[in-house]
Amino acid sequence: MDKEPALSFKYKKERFVETFSFFCQGCNMWHSVSNKLLPTLMPVYIWNGSIDRPSITPRIKNSKDGHVCNVSLTDGNITYLPNTTHHLKGRTLQL
Ligand SMILES: [Zn+2]
Repeated sequence: MDKEPALSFKYKKERFVETFSFFCQGCNMWHSVSNKLLPTLMPVYIWNGSIDRPSITPRIKNSKDGHVCNVSLTDGNITYLPNTTHHLKGRTLQL
Protein backbone atom coordinates (compact mmCIF):
# COMPACT_ATOMS: atom_id res chain seq x y z
CA MET A 1 0.00 0.00 0.00
CA ASP A 2 0.93 3.67 0.10
CA LYS A 3 4.01 4.13 2.24
CA GLU A 4 4.25 7.90 1.96
CA PRO A 5 4.58 9.42 5.43
CA ALA A 6 1.54 11.31 6.69
CA LEU A 7 3.72 14.12 7.97
CA SER A 8 6.49 15.75 6.02
CA PHE A 9 8.29 16.68 9.23
CA LYS A 10 9.82 14.14 11.58
CA TYR A 11 11.46 14.35 14.95
CA LYS A 12 13.59 11.73 16.65
CA LYS A 13 15.68 11.66 19.80
CA GLU A 14 18.54 9.28 20.42
CA ARG A 15 20.52 9.68 23.60
CA PHE A 16 21.54 13.34 23.67
CA VAL A 17 20.87 14.17 20.07
CA GLU A 18 17.59 15.30 18.52
CA THR A 19 17.24 14.95 14.77
CA PHE A 20 14.75 16.90 12.65
CA SER A 21 13.87 15.80 9.14
CA PHE A 22 11.68 17.35 6.48
CA PHE A 23 10.75 16.16 3.03
CA CYS A 24 12.15 18.43 0.33
CA GLN A 25 10.10 18.52 -2.87
CA GLY A 26 12.95 20.23 -4.69
CA CYS A 27 15.45 17.44 -4.04
CA ASN A 28 12.76 14.74 -3.73
CA MET A 29 14.36 13.45 -0.56
CA TRP A 30 14.45 13.93 3.20
CA HIS A 31 16.90 16.42 4.67
CA SER A 32 17.96 15.91 8.27
CA VAL A 33 19.71 18.12 10.76
CA SER A 34 20.55 17.62 14.42
CA ASN A 35 20.44 19.88 17.42
CA LYS A 36 23.88 18.83 18.58
CA LEU A 37 27.04 17.67 16.92
CA LEU A 38 28.74 14.54 18.21
CA PRO A 39 31.06 13.93 19.95
CA THR A 40 31.35 17.41 21.46
CA LEU A 41 27.56 18.02 21.65
CA MET A 42 28.19 21.45 20.21
CA PRO A 43 24.83 23.14 19.53
CA VAL A 44 23.89 23.27 15.86
CA TYR A 45 20.20 23.56 14.96
CA ILE A 46 17.31 24.76 17.12
CA TRP A 47 13.73 23.53 16.65
CA ASN A 48 10.68 25.39 17.99
CA GLY A 49 9.09 22.14 19.25
CA SER A 50 6.13 22.20 16.83
CA ILE A 51 5.36 19.26 14.51
CA ASP A 52 2.56 21.10 12.71
CA ARG A 53 4.34 24.41 12.24
CA PRO A 54 8.00 23.65 12.74
CA SER A 55 10.70 26.27 12.67
CA ILE A 56 14.37 25.40 12.53
CA THR A 57 17.20 27.86 12.84
CA PRO A 58 19.64 28.65 11.36
CA ARG A 59 19.07 28.07 7.64
CA ILE A 60 19.69 24.59 6.27
CA LYS A 61 22.04 24.09 3.37
CA ASN A 62 22.64 20.90 1.44
CA SER A 63 25.10 20.89 -1.42
CA LYS A 64 26.60 18.14 -3.48
CA ASP A 65 28.21 18.05 -6.91
CA GLY A 66 27.11 21.59 -7.78
CA HIS A 67 23.54 21.01 -6.58
CA VAL A 68 22.59 23.44 -3.82
CA CYS A 69 19.45 23.42 -1.70
CA ASN A 70 19.37 26.24 0.85
CA VAL A 71 16.19 26.71 2.86
CA SER A 72 14.76 28.57 5.77
CA LEU A 73 12.08 26.70 7.69
CA THR A 74 9.70 28.96 9.61
CA ASP A 75 6.24 28.13 11.02
CA GLY A 76 5.92 25.15 8.67
CA ASN A 77 6.88 27.16 5.59
CA ILE A 78 9.94 26.26 3.57
CA THR A 79 11.53 29.12 1.67
CA TYR A 80 14.10 28.19 -0.94
CA LEU A 81 16.78 30.83 -0.94
CA PRO A 82 18.19 32.46 -4.10
CA ASN A 83 21.35 30.32 -4.18
CA THR A 84 19.27 27.14 -4.49
CA THR A 85 19.92 25.44 -7.83
CA HIS A 86 16.73 23.39 -8.28
CA HIS A 87 13.31 24.43 -9.67
CA LEU A 88 11.90 25.61 -6.31
CA LYS A 89 14.46 28.40 -6.00
CA GLY A 90 12.84 31.56 -4.63
CA ARG A 91 9.57 29.78 -3.76
CA THR A 92 7.90 29.25 -0.39
CA LEU A 93 6.00 26.01 0.23
CA GLN A 94 4.07 24.65 3.19
CA LEU A 95 5.26 21.41 4.73
ZN1 LIG B 1 16.34 20.06 -0.81
